[in-house]
Amino acid sequence: MNERLHKISKTRYTWSNATSTVISTPLRYFYPQHVEDIQAIVKEAEVQKLRVRAVGSGHSFSEVAKCDDFLMDIKELRDVEKYESPRVKANFSQNQYVLAEAGITIRRVNRLLDDMGLALQNMGAVDFQTISGALMTGTHGTGIHKPAFPDMVVGLRIVGKGGNLFQLEPTDGITDPVSHAQNSSIQLIQDDDIFYSTVLSFGAMGIVYQMILEVVPRFWINEHRYLENWSSVKQKLINGEFMQMLEDYDFAALRVNPYKIDGDHLCSIVRQRIQHTAPTKIEQGRRNILSAIGANLEWLIEGIIRTANRNAKKTGKKIQTSIKLATAKNYIDKSYKVLYQSGAAVLRYGLSSEFAFAADPVKIIAALELIFKETADAATNSDRYHPSHIAVRFVMPSKAYLSSAYNKPTAYIDVPTLHNTIAYQDLLDNYQLIMMALGGTPHWGKVNNMLYLNPSFIHTAYPKYQTWIDVRRQMDPDNTFINDFVIKMGLA
Ligand SMILES: Cc1cc2nc3c(=O)[nH]c(=O)nc-3n(C[C@H](O)[C@H](O)[C@H](O)COP(=O)(O)OP(=O)(O)OC[C@H]3O[C@@H](n4cnc5c(N)ncnc54)[C@H](O)[C@@H]3O)c2cc1C
Repeated sequence: MNERLHKISKTRYTWSNATSTVISTPLRYFYPQHVEDIQAIVKEAEVQKLRVRAVGSGHSFSEVAKCDDFLMDIKELRDVEKYESPRVKANFSQNQYVLAEAGITIRRVNRLLDDMGLALQNMGAVDFQTISGALMTGTHGTGIHKPAFPDMVVGLRIVGKGGNLFQLEPTDGITDPVSHAQNSSIQLIQDDDIFYSTVLSFGAMGIVYQMILEVVPRFWINEHRYLENWSSVKQKLINGEFMQMLEDYDFAALRVNPYKIDGDHLCSIVRQRIQHTAPTKIEQGRRNILSAIGANLEWLIEGIIRTANRNAKKTGKKIQTSIKLATAKNYIDKSYKVLYQSGAAVLRYGLSSEFAFAADPVKIIAALELIFKETADAATNSDRYHPSHIAVRFVMPSKAYLSSAYNKPTAYIDVPTLHNTIAYQDLLDNYQLIMMALGGTPHWGKVNNMLYLNPSFIHTAYPKYQTWIDVRRQMDPDNTFINDFVIKMGLA
């Protein structure tokens, strides 16, 4: 290994994800400063016949980022620039694109875009992830006509086999091949199967070092969060009113207390509308201040875990209080501030299992009511309690072959929990089994251990899995970018 690679790496380092539930002890941990460093790391891995992988912010709870050979942190690659004519074909020039370096966090990209008068179309509930990490597991927010990360990306630049640079786009990609050939030495591949496989591939086809994102002019969002009982929401799901609300608002989602209190489950519904002008100070409003402050206090979460363990029977009431505290009437702010729905406090303790279903009211009701039953049975039969609400979010159909929203408007049912609450893993395992039995498809970044070594389930859930496997073998014939997660999921 050359001097430069020694200089940008260390040995005997233990990497762990944010919740310390996944641990890797790589042979070497690298901090590349630029793409040439990544190329050298990949070539060295090939010479030594080792595996190589990039990590983002470590916010996945599955083993998707695990690798015990070469691991790299690419957070030094964190700039954004416009990607425009003459690189972009004339028929795409009415849209706006940026070229973002892969290690940039969503938080930083939002602020840099805002300075340019631009914004992401959507994001998840937090912004601590890197954009490449978010992309590689299919991170999503909510909005039945809004894209998840893989569908906001129109081009990927990767360091692939041999340390070579590739720019991957759909067959009808935005880049003008003639202009590209004149100005760039990166090999441009415009091919649907390659692009829609690689765009969500857990780093198993190469190291992403840049990506082209389709962005929109800066916008604001008006948020309204209100309370409603499950029996009423259920009725609206059955009679179509709830689904119509998803059509009428740009972003909407549901949270529900899995415990029945005073004869019903309390729900909190958030609905958000885009507006294109900034609010005045009076119009702006704000979220509940206690809830906003609490979301950033780690000691508060630690207290919740302690009380959840000592005084577990009050868990349902505690969830009820937190749902009530989070209401907001007409809070208007910049898009990324409103789309941010959580806080830093959960980072060390919050984890979840999440499954996707066709956005079908019957399925949503069936899944939620089975989860309510499991939660009630666990309390009655074995004194085990689930410490959080259940969330339902919506996403437009995805073109990414391994997206759990592939080809269908999708409802994601998320079961968040807190690491260190008693029996949290057993409960999560049971919730996973319930959602698998209902035909749900997993979020790759969430706790999905019940799927390991169950390839037939994955193969049924993802109709394009074989094309994905074929593309992976073509992009990575020597298995340099594979990891055990890919093997356990039956995708090698
Ligand atoms: C508090 C919290 C809230 C969350 N909220 C949401 C949410 O609202 N919606 C949602 O969908 N998910 C959510 N998640 C899950 C999270 O968005 C995903 O797991 C995401 O993948 C984490 O991104 P990361 O930067 O931490 O990547 P990591 O977890 O570090 O890595 C994820 C994968 O990306 C690969 N990777 C990273 N960088 C590269 C690269 N440059 N090239 C190739 N491969 C790469 C890694 O090898 C790994 O396979 C949440 C997680 C947390 C902790």
